[in-house]
Amino acid sequence: MKSIKHPKENRTTSLEIRFESIGGLGANLAGQLLAESLALRQGLNVSQFSSYGSEKKGTPVRSFIRVAPAEKPIRVTSPVTEPDVLAVFHEALLARRSTLAGLRADGVFILNAPHSSSVRLPKGRVVLVDAMAIAVQEKTRINTAILGAVAKACETIDAKTLAATLEEHFGRRSAKLAEANVKTFWRGYNEALERLITEGFSAPPADGATSAPFWGYLTAPIGGAIIQAGNSVINDLSASRQGFAPRFHKDLCNHCGVCDMVCPDYCLVWEVEDIFHRTPADTAGWERRAARLLGIDYRFCKGCLRCVETCPSGALTKELEGPWVGAEQVPLWKEETV
Ligand code: SF4
Ligand code: SF4
Repeated sequence: MKSIKHPKENRTTSLEIRFESIGGLGANLAGQLLAESLALRQGLNVSQFSSYGSEKKGTPVRSFIRVAPAEKPIRVTSPVTEPDVLAVFHEALLARRSTLAGLRADGVFILNAPHSSSVRLPKGRVVLVDAMAIAVQEKTRINTAILGAVAKACETIDAKTLAATLEEHFGRRSAKLAEANVKTFWRGYNEALERLITEGFSAPPADGATSAPFWGYLTAPIGGAIIQAGNSVINDLSASRQGFAPRFHKDLCNHCGVCDMVCPDYCLVWEVEDIFHRTPADTAGWERRAARLLGIDYRFCKGCLRCVETCPSGALTKELEGPWVGAEQVPLWKEETV
C-alpha cells in the first residue's frame, strides 16, 4: 500500500484528515485518540476538533485533524475542507454530496465497506475495510478498526504508537476492553484493502462540503416565523446501526403494539383494518378497528433493539445485518404520496 507523501511545502499543514460519520459510531473519539497519539507520543503539532449536532444517535458527526511538523505551528482552526485522508464510517453517508467534498486528487479515501462492495467509488486511492464485521466479531466499535485502516494508508501515523495509545485509553476502563480494541485496530490495519480506481467519479469541490443556509437575513420570513414545520422524513438513520437490526417474524406477532410504544423513531409500519362482526343473534352486528404490524421501515431504524427486548412473543429478533434488510424493508409511505 502506498503512503501519503510529506511534507507538502505549499501547505500550512502537512496532513489533513477528515472523518465523516454519524452519532454513535465513535468518530469523535477516534479523532481524539489519533490526535493524542500524533501529538503526545510522536511529537508532532496537531489540532483536532469535531462538529456534531445533538447527542442523539443518527446526527451527522465530522472530526477534523491537522498535523504539522513540531517546528511548524498550526494557525488554521477551521474545518478541514480539502482532506488528504477522508474516512467515511458508513456507506449510507455517501448519499450526501458533502461527504466526499474536497477530497484531494492525490488523497486517499477510506470506506467502511466489505471488499466486495458494489458501491460507486471516487477516482484515485480507495481503501475498503469491513470495520462493521470486525467490530461485531470482536464485540467492539468500528472506530478502532477504521483507525487501523487510516494508519495503514498514511505513513505519518506510526501504527504501533497508535495501538499503544488505544491500549492505554481503553485500559483505564478494563484490560479486556483494551485487548479487544487493540485487536480490532490491528485487524482493521491488516484487513484494509487498497484499490486504485481509474473509472470512478471525481469528488465534488470543497465548496460542496457545506451548503449555504436556506434562510438568511435577506430571505427569512418577517419576524422569523417558521412557515414550514421541520420533519425527519429525509433523515436516514441506517448509518446509526452497529451491525445488528431487528428482524420481524410475522407468524409470531400478536399485534399487541408494545414494540411501537418503545420505538423512539416510529419506524414500525402498521395497517389499520376494519373488522365487521355479525352473529345470527345480533342482526345489527358491530365493527371494530384493528391495527396489524406489517414490518419495519429500516431507513429510520437506528438499531437500538428496544423493540426486540420488549416484544413478548419473540416476533422480533436481533440479527446480523445483511441483504435481508433490503428484502424485508416495508416503507412507511408510498413514495408518490410524499
Ligand atoms: S411487540 Fe412483538 S408481538 Fe407485539 S406487535 Fe410488536 S412484534 Fe408483534
Ligand atoms: S431497533 Fe426497534 S425500537 Fe430501535 S429504532 Fe429500530 S425498530 Fe425502533
